[in-house]
Amino acid sequence: MKNLGILLWLSAIFLLACNEAPKETEILAEPFAIESLKKHMGILASDEFEGRMPCSPGEEKTVAYLLDELKTLGLEPGIGASYTQDVPLIEIEGFPDEQMVLDYGNEKINLNFLDDYVIHSQRKADKVGIKDSELVFCGYGIVAPERGWNDFEGVDLKGKTAVVLVNDPGFGGQDSTFFKGSTMTYYGRWTYKYEEADRQGADGLLIIHETSSAGYPWAVVKSSWTGGQQGLSGIDRSNDCGVKGWISLNTAKDLFDRAGLDMAKEIRSARTKEFKAKSLKAKATVNIRNEYTECISKNVMAVYPGTKKADEYVIYTAHWDHIGIGRKVKEDSIYNGALDNASGVTALLEIAKAFTLSDQKTERSIGFLFVTAEEQGLLGSEYYVKKPSIPLNKIVCNLNMDGVNPAGKMKDFTIVGMGHSEMDEYAERAAKAAGRYTMNEMEPEKGYFYRSDHFNFAKVGVPALYAEGGYDHWDKGKAYAMEFKEGYVKDRYHAPSDEFDAEEWNFDGFIQDASIYFNIGETLANSDDWPKWYQGSEFRRAIDQ
Ligand SMILES: [Zn+2]
Repeated sequence: MKNLGILLWLSAIFLLACNEAPKETEILAEPFAIESLKKHMGILASDEFEGRMPCSPGEEKTVAYLLDELKTLGLEPGIGASYTQDVPLIEIEGFPDEQMVLDYGNEKINLNFLDDYVIHSQRKADKVGIKDSELVFCGYGIVAPERGWNDFEGVDLKGKTAVVLVNDPGFGGQDSTFFKGSTMTYYGRWTYKYEEADRQGADGLLIIHETSSAGYPWAVVKSSWTGGQQGLSGIDRSNDCGVKGWISLNTAKDLFDRAGLDMAKEIRSARTKEFKAKSLKAKATVNIRNEYTECISKNVMAVYPGTKKADEYVIYTAHWDHIGIGRKVKEDSIYNGALDNASGVTALLEIAKAFTLSDQKTERSIGFLFVTAEEQGLLGSEYYVKKPSIPLNKIVCNLNMDGVNPAGKMKDFTIVGMGHSEMDEYAERAAKAAGRYTMNEMEPEKGYFYRSDHFNFAKVGVPALYAEGGYDHWDKGKAYAMEFKEGYVKDRYHAPSDEFDAEEWNFDGFIQDASIYFNIGETLANSDDWPKWYQGSEFRRAIDQ
């Protein structure tokens, strides 16, 4: 096979000369052969693979298939001498006390589970609780050194419970430079607040729910935080914040009133750098009884070794798992996960093939990491960055694929979470060479950047790209592309109907995106560059620390 990057450049020059649409699909027919794409998709999304649930027979089949394909390509093991990494998973079901007792010294009041609060623990222990733990209002619960912001300044939370606001201070304001205005930064996510409470050494954390800032009503908090919660086992959480959860807005108002504080005024103050944490003058006591089950799932990783700088890596990721067998919809209970994410796995296998077929070996190594348990909270990728097979400071970048366009060729190459790092510029150059343009995702306020595996790389400071065509169809335009996308979300997303149909599936856009991903990886694997985070990105902190 010829060098794809050069061919795409040539086709772009040809495009300029003749003013005709480039014919990438013809040029790329060899490494991304339709028959091969159909084979991977057909097998991975088949009923036989049972929706690829971690720790199920579907996992065994998926992992066996990946190992077979990666070995056939002649790739080397990516986890020491092995192609797999054991990922210990845990499901914890918590049974909190029906009441949380708040002691004000002269009186005690009870909050009611589900109506007033929802709590759980990520700790693997039969019983976890807080006892006489002072409630402290800590604003938004954010430490953002790059913004000179610290809601915990001068507070020692040992033995105490932080009460924080949901979202970040920029939300609802008109200023897009204050945090990011209504675009949610990572600081606005509940996951961040949980992690920061761990770092602060708090006993407990309670997030004040408010519907517009959270983006969902209290009913969603109740339903999503009751029942089993998935997590990673094998991670020491004994020093983490033990009790985490939410309180309703009315409960919060009552707490402020009782402490003699004006809640509206305190929230306004929390939106300034001058904010200081304040005691809510109550001590909380509550316990949770936990039941848990554990199992071992697997990440799969293979490596295409570099020639000159083999210890430096470009890492491609795609999650192999989906949600298995579930509630029947129209007589079908198998959630095949064709788009989500047999498509990403297929793309990675073909990109890996493209590297092995290329005449020109890359200077840096390329890692192909197929992670587990994305659907249960990005757990496989989280585990990988916590126990990486390659030192994190040797990972040049992460290129993640999750749901590869089945709707045909697109003019756009949309970057999810544009503006974080120089990966945008690599994406833009590669897209341009293929006759396409880059743009930011349409709904940045929904926080999609935080919802697939690249995010775990971003969190530890590895610049990451998650991009795809999807808004501007090459022949049929924007309205068609939007209709297709909305149709998928409505009818197929996380439903048994996310199936693979070899006749219906259009691979043209898939090949376009996979080729761009190949080119970006190839460019970076043949350079000395270390893409950087932009100044205002919240992920710089990992590097700075
Ligand atoms: Zn997915």
